[in-house]
Amino acid sequence: MKPAVFLDRDGTINEEVGYIRDLDRLKLISGAASAIAKLNRAGIPAVLVTNQSGPARGYYDEAWVRTLLERLSALLQEEAGAYLDALYYCPHLPPDEGGVVEGYARHCDCRKPATGMVVQAAREHDLDVPRSFVVGDKSTDILLGHNARARTVLLETGYGRDVLAGRYQFSIRPDHVAAHLEDAVDWIIDQIARPALA
Ligand SMILES: [Mg+2]
Ligand SMILES: [Zn+2]
Repeated sequence: MKPAVFLDRDGTINEEVGYIRDLDRLKLISGAASAIAKLNRAGIPAVLVTNQSGPARGYYDEAWVRTLLERLSALLQEEAGAYLDALYYCPHLPPDEGGVVEGYARHCDCRKPATGMVVQAAREHDLDVPRSFVVGDKSTDILLGHNARARTVLLETGYGRDVLAGRYQFSIRPDHVAAHLEDAVDWIIDQIARPALA
């Protein structure tokens, strides 16, 4: 079993611009592609775990979520020869949180901070979750890490600065705070290279 890095999408890899209806609005955060390329070279699986409630809200269909993820993969490849080892998304949203589209407007076990995507990835790719890391820009990303018993890195990109200032979601303590994904990856690679504590 290998440790992995579970990556959020919006505000972590690409710029946080709200719901994306136009491919041109999907733009990589500076350094994100090279950061993922570093994970690739280190042999550490990079696994996307993203909440995409657009289909449940009726903003667009699930095929559009897949189109955006294909575009993301193409941009990572173009910019740094980087790739995600696996991609998981949750298209659901409970009705009391704004879900309206039948089949998607429901409670599920995959919407972060629930651990369904991490559990599925661990099973499908033989990952060692307690030695893995969850990286994201929201409190709910860090709570996912806590719930999954993984280590956590909060980024200052996306909503991260607002989380740290107590202006967004809720206060939570990550294992590490990093300015951006590249800083996070450098710290993670160093952590994984250390001998495990007995
Ligand atoms: Mg995010
Ligand atoms: Zn879900």
